[in-house]
Amino acid sequence: MSVSVVETKDPLETEALGAKLAGGLRDGDVVLVRGELGSGKTTFVRGAARALGVTDPITSPTFSIGHRYKATDMTVSHLDLYRLAGGLQAEDPALLDDYLGPGRIAFVEWPASDSAELSNARLRVTLTHEGADRRRIEVVVEG
Ligand code: ADP
Ligand code: MG
Repeated sequence: MSVSVVETKDPLETEALGAKLAGGLRDGDVVLVRGELGSGKTTFVRGAARALGVTDPITSPTFSIGHRYKATDMTVSHLDLYRLAGGLQAEDPALLDDYLGPGRIAFVEWPASDSAELSNARLRVTLTHEGADRRRIEVVVEG
């Protein structure tokens, strides 16, 4: 496990960090992205998804728990579990099946802590507001 902390001063720097970290991801990986509303979770995911070859606009899932995007040689999943922050116990166990697993790399905003699939994440990213456009971004890499 390795931990690093980066400070960004604008959204482009946060996107660039996402792009850089995307370079170390492999098929089937899960990335958990935590932080308050507006801290830059979706911005980070956008940078990572672009680097993986997604050309469609990357927007916050609103009417579903996630989006799937075609990337260079896999699918990029982008989940927002804000509404499920209390936990996944009460949900359909297959809820995440379309988004995780072989052939996919998944980014999960607001991960609930009680799912086995999510507890095996390769990367954990936590963003914190530091005033104006500055963000502190902690990155934990497993393995
Ligand atoms: P979240 O998904 O965490 O709710 P978003 O990525 O949707 O956050 O929104 C973050 C907002 O903050 C955007 O409007 C973005 O332009 C702005 N912002 C300002 N500075 C930064 C920064 N350093 N990193 C990321 N986003 C930033
Ligand atoms: Mg978001």
